[in-house]
Amino acid sequence: MSELYATVIVPRPVDGTFTYRVPPELHTAVGVGRRVVVPFGGKRYVTGVIEALSPVKGADDFQVKDISEVLDAQAVVLHPQMKMWHWLADYYMCAVGDVFKAALPSGLLPESESVVTCTDDADPDLIAALGERDAAIYDAVRAKGKISVKELAKMIGVSSIEARVSRLVDAGLLAMHEAMTGKYRRVRVHKVIPAIAEGDRVALTAAFAAAGRSRGQQEALTRLIALSGFNNATVPTRSVARADLLEGSGGAFTWEHVTALKRKGLVKIETVEVSRFSAPEDGSGAFSQPLPALSPAQSEALRGIHQSFMNRAVTLLRGVTSSGKTELYIHLIDHVLQQGRQALMLVPEIALTTQLTRRLQRVFGSKVKIYHSRFSDSERVDIWRDMVSHPGPCVVIGARSAVFLPFTNLGLVIVDEEHEPSYKQYDPAPRYNGRDAAIVLASLHGAKTLLGSATPSIETYYKATDGDKYGLVELTERYGNVTMPSIEIVDIAAERARRGMDGAFANCTVAQGRQLLKDGRQLIFFHNRRGFAPRARCRMCQFVPKCDHCDVALTYHKRTDTLECHYCGASYPVPRVCPNCKEPAIEIVGYGTERLEEEVDALFPEARILRMDLDTTRNKDAYADIIDTFSARKADILVGTQMVTKGLDFSDVGMVGVLNADNIINYPDFRSHERAFNMLEQVSGRAGRRADTPGRVLIQTYTPQHPVLQYVRAHDYKGFYDSELEQRRQYFYPPFARVINIYIKHRDRDTAQRAADDYAARLRTVLGRRVNGPIEPPVGRVASLYIRQIMLKVETEASMKQVKDILRSIYTEITHPAAPRVAIHFDVDPV
Ligand code: ADP
Ligand code: ZN
Repeated sequence: MSELYATVIVPRPVDGTFTYRVPPELHTAVGVGRRVVVPFGGKRYVTGVIEALSPVKGADDFQVKDISEVLDAQAVVLHPQMKMWHWLADYYMCAVGDVFKAALPSGLLPESESVVTCTDDADPDLIAALGERDAAIYDAVRAKGKISVKELAKMIGVSSIEARVSRLVDAGLLAMHEAMTGKYRRVRVHKVIPAIAEGDRVALTAAFAAAGRSRGQQEALTRLIALSGFNNATVPTRSVARADLLEGSGGAFTWEHVTALKRKGLVKIETVEVSRFSAPEDGSGAFSQPLPALSPAQSEALRGIHQSFMNRAVTLLRGVTSSGKTELYIHLIDHVLQQGRQALMLVPEIALTTQLTRRLQRVFGSKVKIYHSRFSDSERVDIWRDMVSHPGPCVVIGARSAVFLPFTNLGLVIVDEEHEPSYKQYDPAPRYNGRDAAIVLASLHGAKTLLGSATPSIETYYKATDGDKYGLVELTERYGNVTMPSIEIVDIAAERARRGMDGAFANCTVAQGRQLLKDGRQLIFFHNRRGFAPRARCRMCQFVPKCDHCDVALTYHKRTDTLECHYCGASYPVPRVCPNCKEPAIEIVGYGTERLEEEVDALFPEARILRMDLDTTRNKDAYADIIDTFSARKADILVGTQMVTKGLDFSDVGMVGVLNADNIINYPDFRSHERAFNMLEQVSGRAGRRADTPGRVLIQTYTPQHPVLQYVRAHDYKGFYDSELEQRRQYFYPPFARVINIYIKHRDRDTAQRAADDYAARLRTVLGRRVNGPIEPPVGRVASLYIRQIMLKVETEASMKQVKDILRSIYTEITHPAAPRVAIHFDVDPV
């Protein structure tokens, strides 16, 4: 029989792919895109995916191992996916294994674990002679029969027991081997059905009698009869899912009552395995609601998009808040579904999906699939499998990781709020931008991409205008004659000076809020969480120290008690007196939403308050609950972080208050103005989505004259863009330069510093002034690793391949085996 070799991608941060031999008995089982279990690194087994098969080994000077198992009968990873992984690995400078690992839900990537058992022929004297710790381990294994080393450590309550276990293995008391762990479980559902022949009223009466005096059993039976349609002669009796049966029981009965009925033979309980996204409930997946009729401006924009798609792969839709971008998306999605193709709609965060999903579901029914990180792993596995086995038309709404799904016939990608920084993954690798990955995905499928935003990122708008790469369609009016909200800037320093300020709120903010509440409107208060980060400020004049060389606010570093520039690395002592007003009043300050909620409560004692931030939305449904409560008008005030700025559509909000715009504006970063403008424009977009009364936005600030605020007040995106672009040109930042951050980490501070200095010096000999740093980032130590950062700014038109080759070769030089092992990673296009 001829030989067969497989090129396999493994989920490990190692460069390249690996060759394995396909043993003869697996020749018919293997196939490109199928998952395989392969030995990797010592005794371990991991799940990889076959990228190619070949009768020749390639380089023949190395020993290849055998594939041990094939997990799939069909490809679960498709060709364009693997192509995209390689593109991402190359562009974002990480291993293809990193991408593979991020791409698949971990349920599809089972790995082996070390498992221990007791040996049959252990020497009893040895067992008796064991020390206390070893005896505890031995007894635990004997009690469990078979246990993974990880579990065992947990049971014993110590973190590392490998050494002890291996001594026990050497002594012949324990045996150890590698076993696969199956993390993925299909969902099981209990279904209940009356055990009574249909229409048999006599038996029914008897059943109630048999249920006896137990109130719970009586109630359970009553509800089951109702839900199962037993009394409805026109339809056959249905079984009822456990959850449906118990839901709304009001505690009148529990599952125990149902199982008691089963023991009496009155009901049958069956267990069914369901894939969560199997057949649609309505059976057809038919569109349930007609498409929204478009306004003339919207129709014009839609035509513009179709036209632009004729000669551009990517088009930007810049539409002011509440202009109806979502309605346009719906029309475009409908168009590709009608052609039998698939659509992907990326949203920056789960936060945005609740209202949006419902809007899409109303139109596209079960063709809507949702995919994001808040879903459990098995839910994600189900969607994945479903897309592989039913590659029909569908629209996926997802967070950035949805770009990894196995699309077969993608026709359209929409990236909503394309400017959102949360599209970028920071950690771990691949540090990719979901928006840019989506554009690549679309191009691999020959699909079109629509980027949507009220406030496009500077890079994107540049590409759509001066750069002439993307098409551009603009929607400048709100839907339904709703005017843009009026924006009022509140000078906090002035308010404080005339005692018009109470804690975080100016009196005028409070007064307007109270009036609007009286008029039956709702309020939103927005406070950026980044305000928690300690920084320096003058208590008297509110002066914020800035770097002499860069236009960024300085970050206070606690460890060194200095103020540092995030960009050029300059370091300054904390001034004892304020350089502006000469008062000894420099202090380190911070404020957060939680404290804010308390203040709101005190200021608006009658109002019902909700808070929405990371802490209040950890729970899977919490976010939807808050949105529902607020839009059902069961609360009057919503206090929150960035989350409240994004995409929400509440019609009764009369005012949005921004408590401290300076927190956003002064973030030490070349993107701080862009981010501030976007955020303020987005947040003001939540106000006044009603035609009768224009909404109001109050922005509290210490810098009322700040240009960003003037642009926000005028809703002047273009003015802002022009001025920001000039800054970027002057300081050589994107879109005129491409930024790559290099992070160097080590447990030992001096080692990290030396390695960083070394790397930067070597880079400078080749790239000169394009190299900035190394600096210590604001968070200079994470997980007990010291971090140093080098920023590389390269001309956009330069060959990135060349730059990356340089980076890689220096990387190899400084990571030679004799050098201390520092961790180095690259962040390409940081946001
Ligand atoms: P954007 O996404 O641009 O902020 P939305 O799509 O959320 O705007 O639209 C704002 C509001 O106007 C929503 O409540 C939406 O239902 C409504 N709307 C927009 N266009 C239409 C339309 N053509 N028909 C009916 N309602 C519309
Ligand atoms: Zn600086």
